[in-house]
Amino acid sequence: METEILIIGGGVSGLYAAYCLEQAGIDYQLCESRDRLGGRIYGERYPDSDSGSYFDYGPSWVWPDFQPQIAQLLTELGLTTFEQYLDGDMLFEEAVGNEVKRLSDSSAMQGSYRITGGTQALINALASCIPMQRIHLSSPVTHLIQQENSITIRCANEQAATIKSQRCIISMPPRLIARTLSFTPPLSDKLTDQFIRTATWMAGHAKVIALYESPFWRHDGLSGDGFSHRGPLTEIHDASPAVDGPYALFGFVGYPPKARKMMGEEELLDAVQQQLERMYGPEAATPLKLSVKDWSTDPYTATNDDLLPPLRHPEYGLPNMAVDQWSNKVYFAGTEMADQHGGYIEGAFIAVNTVLEKILYDPA
Ligand SMILES: Cc1cc2nc3c(=O)[nH]c(=O)nc-3n(C[C@H](O)[C@H](O)[C@H](O)COP(=O)(O)OP(=O)(O)OC[C@H]3O[C@@H](n4cnc5c(N)ncnc54)[C@H](O)[C@@H]3O)c2cc1C
Repeated sequence: METEILIIGGGVSGLYAAYCLEQAGIDYQLCESRDRLGGRIYGERYPDSDSGSYFDYGPSWVWPDFQPQIAQLLTELGLTTFEQYLDGDMLFEEAVGNEVKRLSDSSAMQGSYRITGGTQALINALASCIPMQRIHLSSPVTHLIQQENSITIRCANEQAATIKSQRCIISMPPRLIARTLSFTPPLSDKLTDQFIRTATWMAGHAKVIALYESPFWRHDGLSGDGFSHRGPLTEIHDASPAVDGPYALFGFVGYPPKARKMMGEEELLDAVQQQLERMYGPEAATPLKLSVKDWSTDPYTATNDDLLPPLRHPEYGLPNMAVDQWSNKVYFAGTEMADQHGGYIEGAFIAVNTVLEKILYDPA
């Protein structure tokens, strides 16, 4: 198969690149390693059905007041947002003892918005604008080989085994590029090292979702926000749909990836259930569903380097050292390549826009 531009990675950045190329009438194909689109954006419905809101195991929030790209794209796609549920007190649990404090001053999440239907709705809306014959699922790219006027891409999938393209947009986290793709000729050592040093945002994290028939915490004057020094969850928020149920709380697990692995999922979820009951009362003990997504064990998001997550938000952006022999042939456009909002969904759009400007004004 031959194409003008091959997009590698079908997360929000790769999908947005496809959406823009589709609109510009430029020929492209997209290879995605997983059997689904969305990458770090992943949600499930309850019960598993064709309607209703998604419960997101990846991102929950967008900030359209100061993220203009997402604000514009949501309007274009006909998607709406609603404010994170904030009404009521928040809870705080100390590291030791059973006391749970109620704090009435403010919510930590003021100004945060959620996409109606879940963040997964953004992926579905983008995907619906792209002809399916341009998308190759379950197609992990393994090797990029440069020829005189083209690039041959090897893929671990029979149907898309080799694709020839003039250029590639690589919409993957830098660490995955360095650790899992091979290039002939190779990328410079300097660039590879820089990619390995660039932490994949949230790759070392795990998110728990607890679904309930009723939003009993709201009835109790609680916003759902909870913070704990005891754990396993360190930060908890309301994750219910804009309207109707099931209602939900979600939380980030505070134990590091290695500790989670040693503990195992069942023991972890038992401890989470006990914590929810401790903090939110007896009704929290009987969720309709309690589940966890541990991103650190997902090979299409995390590498071993992500087992020690960064303590604060890293500085992101495409390294100045460009791509030597691969200049004008490969372009890097995952969120970690954005010099503003890097790591966030907004960063994915910024990274893609930067690359598309280069492609459109820099003919091959
Ligand atoms: C738990 C969690 C919470 C978050 N919360 C927020 C939030 O509230 N707000 C926010 O803005 N952001 C948040 N984020 C970050 C947000 O999810 C990312 O910024 C965004 O999804 C990155 O998109 P991307 O397309 O750049 O990368 P990815 O989503 O990682 O996409 C990369 C794609 O490449 C594919 N791939 C990997 N290897 C190959 C290969 N060899 N060949 C082909 N394809 C390959 C992957 O399967 C994946 O689909 C959160 C992330 C997580 C995990």
